[in-house]
Amino acid sequence: MIVAERKPMDEIIDMIAPYEKVLVLACGGCVTVCLTGGEKNAEMLATQLKLAASQADKTISADFDCITRQCEKEFFDNLTKNPDDYDAVLSIACGAGVGYMSEQYPDAVILPGMNTTFLASNVANGIWEEYCRGCGDCALAWTGGICPIAKCSKSLINGTCGGTNDGKCEVDQDMECGWLAIYERLEKRDRLDEYRKMRPLRDHRKDRGKGVRRLVLKDMIEEEPVNE
Ligand code: SF4
Ligand code: SF4
Repeated sequence: MIVAERKPMDEIIDMIAPYEKVLVLACGGCVTVCLTGGEKNAEMLATQLKLAASQADKTISADFDCITRQCEKEFFDNLTKNPDDYDAVLSIACGAGVGYMSEQYPDAVILPGMNTTFLASNVANGIWEEYCRGCGDCALAWTGGICPIAKCSKSLINGTCGGTNDGKCEVDQDMECGWLAIYERLEKRDRLDEYRKMRPLRDHRKDRGKGVRRLVLKDMIEEEPVNE
């Protein structure tokens, strides 16, 4: 899932300072699952904003709403409030949701209430850990299922940097060395042949070096009707 954390309250208050009528808009997707977004948080945030405004001798109206996903247009029909009726919409979705809403409501001011951080799994109660960095060229087949991009501080693809210390990463002593974990996993599976192979340089155009990335499923694109 995509993990996002709410922006600091001071930053949010500064952002909405020019506006009097605000809609806090939640997304029912990933950020609800990781408990930083969702309808309850939107309601709470709306209340906090009103409280903060009254403490600053200001009056604002802050409503809240929630749709299943802000990154998909089909769910916009479920909005019970119209973003165009507000001075500003504070979206507590991930960046994809905020960006897509801004595009679809070009006359509305859509502000980000969250900082989008990483792709994660819920590893324990209240803990989400990064498992993938969306590199566009997945290596998990030859790393025993452990991501060398996310689980190695230097995102190395040809084994450890040599700085591993007592199994810990030299960059961050609080984390296990990802490449030691990969080695041990492959050893356990009797697949150290994979570890010994030299991997070619990564093509960073698949990552973030070549503009906006798109997934295009040609079969799903409707063909233009032919004019007769
Ligand atoms: S190798 Fe790339 S696609 Fe695969 S899990 Fe790691 S970052 Fe994600
Ligand atoms: S110590 Fe391990 S995890 Fe840390 S940068 Fe080196 S190879 Fe990567």
